[in-house]
Amino acid sequence: MRFPESSQEALRERIVLACRVLAVTGLVEHILGHVSARTGPESLLIRGRGPEERGLAFTVVDDVQQVDLDGKGEVPADWRVPSELPIHSEVLRARPEVTAVVHAHPPAVVAASVAELPWLPIVGSYDIPAARLAHDGIPVWPRSALIRRRDLAEQMTASLGDRPVVVLRGHGLVAVGTGDPAHAVAEAVTRALAVDSLARTALAVAATGAPLQPIPDEDIAELPDLGPAFNVAAMWRHLTARVEHEGPATPLRG
Ligand SMILES: [Zn+2]
Repeated sequence: MRFPESSQEALRERIVLACRVLAVTGLVEHILGHVSARTGPESLLIRGRGPEERGLAFTVVDDVQQVDLDGKGEVPADWRVPSELPIHSEVLRARPEVTAVVHAHPPAVVAASVAELPWLPIVGSYDIPAARLAHDGIPVWPRSALIRRRDLAEQMTASLGDRPVVVLRGHGLVAVGTGDPAHAVAEAVTRALAVDSLARTALAVAATGAPLQPIPDEDIAELPDLGPAFNVAAMWRHLTARVEHEGPATPLRG
């Protein structure tokens, strides 16, 4: 397997930007959360932790290193893979078509999962990707454990199944992307954002005491898939512009 579309250094920068997007959009609050991209059948680039860890908003290229699915690689002596590496490695093992994985702890997703709100297509044109994701099904892994072991990650991956996202009750979410890994990183981020949007709306509706009801199928049928050029590429330009204007001025490369 080869990914000629993306040079490794460009892919590292893409992961850095994805981490900063997660911070500027509030999907990660501080130092927890990580993004990875597949570089081969048994290897990935992943955002880990160096000795100067300052949180996702301040991610730099040196925070992103290449390891194999067991977390081994030629990496700086003071850099560590995330303790939840198995989230990434087990999804990559189980889903050969997956080329990017995002793990975040969005507060609204955590609150909605603890409240056990149903993941329904409660909105339509307001957020078409969110409506379509919910209509097709958003699985929930019912455990809140830190996923440091392969057996836990296998359980979580089984809940994910062949879907693009899984909610981790009392923990956060995992979103995946496919195809060229640079595209897949952006795709996984936009999917995570869609789940967060759905969670925020569900919490707001539930707070009024109104029931959460799915929109009718005839309205779902009028929500077209607007395609990756709109859903991913245009969103990515928006998100990275926000990082540039709202995020810290820390250079991508130290
Ligand atoms: Zn986590």
